[in-house]
Amino acid sequence: MKTRISIITSALLLAGCSTVAEPQAESQYNASLIITNGQVLTINDEKDVIENGVIVIENDTIVAVGDASLLSRYQAPKVIDAEDGIVMPGMINTHNHLPMIAFRGLGEEGIENRLFAYFFPLEKEKLSRDLIYQATKLGAVDLAQSGVTTYADMYYHVDDMARATKEVGLRAVLGETVIKFPVVDAPEPYGGIEYATQFIEEYQNDPLITPAFAPHAVYTVSKEKLQEINRLSAKLDAPVLIHVAEFGNEAERIEGNDQQLSPVAWLKEIGVLDNRMVLAHGIHLDQNDIDLIKEAGASVAHNPMANAKGATGIAPAWEMYRQGLRLGLGTDGPMSSNQVDLWRTLSYTANMQRLKHNDRTIMIPEQVIELSTIGGARALHMEDQIGSLEVGKKADIIIIETQSPNMMPNYNPYATLVYQANPGNVSTTIVNGDIVMEQREIKNIDMAEMQQAVRTIEADIAEFAKELSKKAIKSKSLMN
Ligand SMILES: [Zn+2]
Repeated sequence: MKTRISIITSALLLAGCSTVAEPQAESQYNASLIITNGQVLTINDEKDVIENGVIVIENDTIVAVGDASLLSRYQAPKVIDAEDGIVMPGMINTHNHLPMIAFRGLGEEGIENRLFAYFFPLEKEKLSRDLIYQATKLGAVDLAQSGVTTYADMYYHVDDMARATKEVGLRAVLGETVIKFPVVDAPEPYGGIEYATQFIEEYQNDPLITPAFAPHAVYTVSKEKLQEINRLSAKLDAPVLIHVAEFGNEAERIEGNDQQLSPVAWLKEIGVLDNRMVLAHGIHLDQNDIDLIKEAGASVAHNPMANAKGATGIAPAWEMYRQGLRLGLGTDGPMSSNQVDLWRTLSYTANMQRLKHNDRTIMIPEQVIELSTIGGARALHMEDQIGSLEVGKKADIIIIETQSPNMMPNYNPYATLVYQANPGNVSTTIVNGDIVMEQREIKNIDMAEMQQAVRTIEADIAEFAKELSKKAIKSKSLMN
């Protein structure tokens, strides 16, 4: 009944208006959750930071953001004291292959052409529906404990990923992989198209899961199939996640690309570059590519840590940011950067661009945090729902404690986050108004059971992985 008044009140407070009449105590509005006593980084257009701030949540939505005076207007059965910690929007990881967390730490012996010599054979032998489900659960807990509230992913058996993700309580954009050879959940080449279509129809109205197509790359999916996916994605209004310009030689690997167009120009030429596309990596882009992406309203998932580890290059992230592209941060899969959280990625994002441009004044911490939150939301075309702490947005919120020695002092919260914080500093994670983790304790699943399932998978994989690695290294030494 009083919701409308409260929303207007908080909007006025945000605008710095101090003329709002104090309602009587008996007119206190009953919300479902209140966060108090935090340094609130709103990441709104003005980048307002509210000291001793308060956030009020009603079910899945933020209904008020302001200073401590809000406490006279609102009450809730659950109040979380942020204890002077930093309160910010949950981080958004725009590119991942989360179930590969079952394989992280493998194939680290300096293997040449690791994707084809190691990844694909390992997946062929060991992937199963159960592994994908269990590994997603581990990954989702890892994400929740490190403050990622939304992740975008390209993998297989995405319905099982959706199930595990929802059990932990995270938000995700899940794309079923489409590729030109048989894979674990599709015995026919390109079988992912049918799998994805069914998945999209099933999850279309889910509050946490956005179902998507994930054609693997321009060099592993034909022109005709990319066009078919484009038509279906328009019909079903589903995002399309794809790897683009990760490698310098992609143009020559595209079938039928007689004019040697760049991968981005190729997507434009065949009529599939549009505002549902999320391009992962975008390392080898020229200005024309950047213009085409911007014009199409497509977006880029920037993965600096994986790109550094894989020696694939430094993306023109600063150029894309400056030119207002939809740009978010990602980790790529857990075999590519070994972390699913964004903490190290934050400093990589700043430092690699500074090195590349020989300029210490660019990519300042505030800009990096923007990329990890509202930037990611824009990259996933979800900025109306998530990415900032504003009235009307979904309540995806994290609290980062500032009492640990590594977090002290905290003069500039953006710098503290980018250069000091680590996943262990995240104390509380809220997604869609539900508390997924509080004071480091995961709420929705049995941790011991999850850990046991991972140990079983690890024991099953270890021996095969060792042999595969020996073979891959041997074939390299034979070549030399
Ligand atoms: Zn990837």
